[in-house]
Amino acid sequence: MVHSHAGGVPAGTGSSLVSGEKTMEDSRFYSLPELSYEYTALAPYISEEQLKLHHQKHHQAYVNGANAIFEKLDKARKENTDLDMKAALKELSFHIGGFRLHNRFWENLAPAGKGGGGAPKGGLAKAIDGEFGKFDRFKKEFTQGAVSVEGSGWAALTYCRKTGRPLIVQIEKHNVNVAPGFDMLLVLDVWEHAYYLDYKNDRAKFVDAFWNIVNWDVVAQRFDKVKK
Ligand code: MN
Repeated sequence: MVHSHAGGVPAGTGSSLVSGEKTMEDSRFYSLPELSYEYTALAPYISEEQLKLHHQKHHQAYVNGANAIFEKLDKARKENTDLDMKAALKELSFHIGGFRLHNRFWENLAPAGKGGGGAPKGGLAKAIDGEFGKFDRFKKEFTQGAVSVEGSGWAALTYCRKTGRPLIVQIEKHNVNVAPGFDMLLVLDVWEHAYYLDYKNDRAKFVDAFWNIVNWDVVAQRFDKVKK
């Protein structure tokens, strides 16, 4: 039985979440994390306008979307009513995927020359060289993977503990083609909303620019953690 969710999201619920206020009541909900750099910091590779919009509007929409489903679930449980579980869970997966991938994305970026750009070092560099032969080969494969994502999605570098292989994956939307349990070491958002203001429809140009702002230290830390 499918029930309608008219008024499913209580009025005013979003306001404290949007401002990122942490209260006891909100702790079971997501909130938008702050960036560790200024909105201007990634220019010219990502402009202030593009980054601000992406963070404040798009990332926020996934926070709100996931929280709205949490609220629907809470309400239905409290009132002991039925939900369209297929629709709710599908939507939840999409928004949680979007929320988490954006967190990872902001963290694995840094201003060019100030933590961003260059090449990986240490254990990560060794693993990439071992798998791909050399860094340039990895870069080429990752770039091709990112550019060829069908529609909206992501390219990511993950790691398979079983085989010891660093793996490139292509995620459609925020949640399709995700290998369960694989940690996201490096992610790149190739939704048009990520680059359209700066690059119009030229995704390849955006992917090319991305290499100048990759925070390899963060990627290496994630790798070391996964290897432990
Ligand atoms: Mn995005």
